[in-house]
Order: sequence, then structure tokens, then C-alpha cells
Amino acid sequence: GEQRLRIPPWLKTEIPMGENYSKLKKSLSKLNLNTVCVEAKCPNIGECWNGGEDRIATATIMLLGDECTRGCRFCSVKTSRKPAAPDPNEPENTASEICSWDIDYIVLTSVDRDDLPDQGSSHIAETIRSIKHKKPNLLVECLTPDFRGDKKCIETIVKSNLDVYAHNVETVRELQSHVRDYRANFEQSLNVLIHAKEVNPNLITKTSIMLGLGETNEQIRETMLQIRTRANVDCLTLGQYMQPTRRHLKVKEYIRPEVFQELKEYGESIGFLYVASGPLVRSSYRAGEYFIKNILK
Ligand code: SF4
Ligand code: SF4
Repeated sequence: GEQRLRIPPWLKTEIPMGENYSKLKKSLSKLNLNTVCVEAKCPNIGECWNGGEDRIATATIMLLGDECTRGCRFCSVKTSRKPAAPDPNEPENTASEICSWDIDYIVLTSVDRDDLPDQGSSHIAETIRSIKHKKPNLLVECLTPDFRGDKKCIETIVKSNLDVYAHNVETVRELQSHVRDYRANFEQSLNVLIHAKEVNPNLITKTSIMLGLGETNEQIRETMLQIRTRANVDCLTLGQYMQPTRRHLKVKEYIRPEVFQELKEYGESIGFLYVASGPLVRSSYRAGEYFIKNILK
């Protein structure tokens, strides 16, 4: 078959874990919190967690189990048509644990639950409400599924008192069906972001695109423009797609750091409040820091 591309030098760097990492990881396992950061061995832990002495700036938690009803071709989460029923105590327990922690910003994400009547939206919203009730100053970003475009689910999340509504379009318009689950598409995802703002025009919205899947520079810019002009999205992240296993989509191209930089400048020129763009950037990359610097100001 096709040869796999060599990993370029800018992706081979030693992962800087930071001084707090091992200390925080220990307290984390005591707290019984499964962060995506640790589980996915995310290369950004050093930067995201580094909020100073014993304090974490940004971390990501996954809700609703570890089995997803979808099968996106870039994602290593297990697929199941009927995942285990949600733990009814998860919202309260997760909120208590997160709130006992010295942290600035939490990203809540979840698997897609097409099997549940409300697609898991009330479970997610309950977790957010509980966090905000216990600790109103803790900034909460929620990275949601597309809920198959169901406006009621989106509204449930928006009304839960979160700070940032994130939903990822994942790739350029032209590659949606190649990259994502058959139930996902660009218009549906854009509508999620449009509707979130309709429900609360002051809510900050955010989306992410992975690069290196075979898209052209023109397609990236056009997709960014649509996101900005049609959905009025505030924040954008652009990162390199990395193949999680041999069974997943191959990397078509390793995008050079200077191209990420040009796209960041383009994004800022069309009005995004911030664009995090770089080979190692993930959807939640330094989210707390970016929010505090660019949005709270
Ligand atoms: Fe955690 Fe996301 Fe930062 Fe990675 S990018 S360390 S998953 S918050
Ligand atoms: Fe992975 Fe999300 Fe796709 Fe599920 S919906 S397979 S968790 S990217």
C-alpha cells in the first residue's frame, strides 16, 4: 500500500511535562478524575496544566462513559451501538471532584450518545450547573456533540450557565463525509454553533479544525470564513491531525509551522477573538489562558 509519511522534526520534540505534572497527576489519581489530558497522553499537558504552584490552568474531562455511538475515522474512542447506561451520580460526583481542585478552567467533553432520548444533553447540563453552583468563578467550556442538530439539546446546554460553547467542525467542508461519522456534516455542525448564539448572543463559541487530511489551503480559508461570517464563532483552534492507530485515516500531509502561523494571522484578520494554531494544538489547548487573556481582558 501507500507509504506512510515520515514524522517531521517539529513534531518529534520532547514532551515538556512541567514541574507540577507528576505532583498534580498524583493528586488527580487520588481524586479519581479521568482527564482526557492524561488518558490521551496529550503532548500539551506541560503547557495546559501549568497554572503555577499547585494550580492547573486548563484540564479536560470526558463525560458519559468511554464508548461512543459514532465511528469517526480520525478518533480512537471505542464505538458501541449500545454503550453502558449513564451513571446518574456522575454529574454530582464529577462536579464535586472538579470543584475540590485548584484550577482556572475546565473543559467538559463527552462521547456522542445517539442512543439516549436527549442524546445526553441533560446529563451534561446537570454537570455544568452543579459546577457553577459550587464554584461560580470556575470557567467552564463544554465541547458538545452535534446532537444531530436537535435545537432542544443545544438549548439545554446553553441554559446551563457555561462560559464557552464549543463544537468542532473537525475538517474542511469538502472532507466531512470522508473524515467524520455518516451522521455528521458541516451544515449541521455550523447550525449547532449558530443556534447556541441565537439562544444566548453573549455566549462565547468555539470550534476546531484538524489539518493534514488532504485539504487545500484555499479550502481551509473558505471554511474559516464560513465559520466566522455565518456562525459568528469567536474562537478557533487549528492543529495537525495525527493518526491514532493504523486502522485510522492516514496523515496526508504534515503542515509546516509557518503555514499554521499564516492561518492564525488570517483568522485574526477576519475577526476571531483568538486563534490557537500550531502542529500540536488540540481543541482545548491552553484554553483557560487564552480565555483570560483575550476574552476577559
Ligand atoms: Fe488537556 Fe486539552 Fe490541554 Fe491536551 S490540549 S493537555 S487534552 S486541556
Ligand atoms: Fe470520537 Fe467524538 Fe467521533 Fe465519538 S463523535 S467517534 S468521540 S470524534
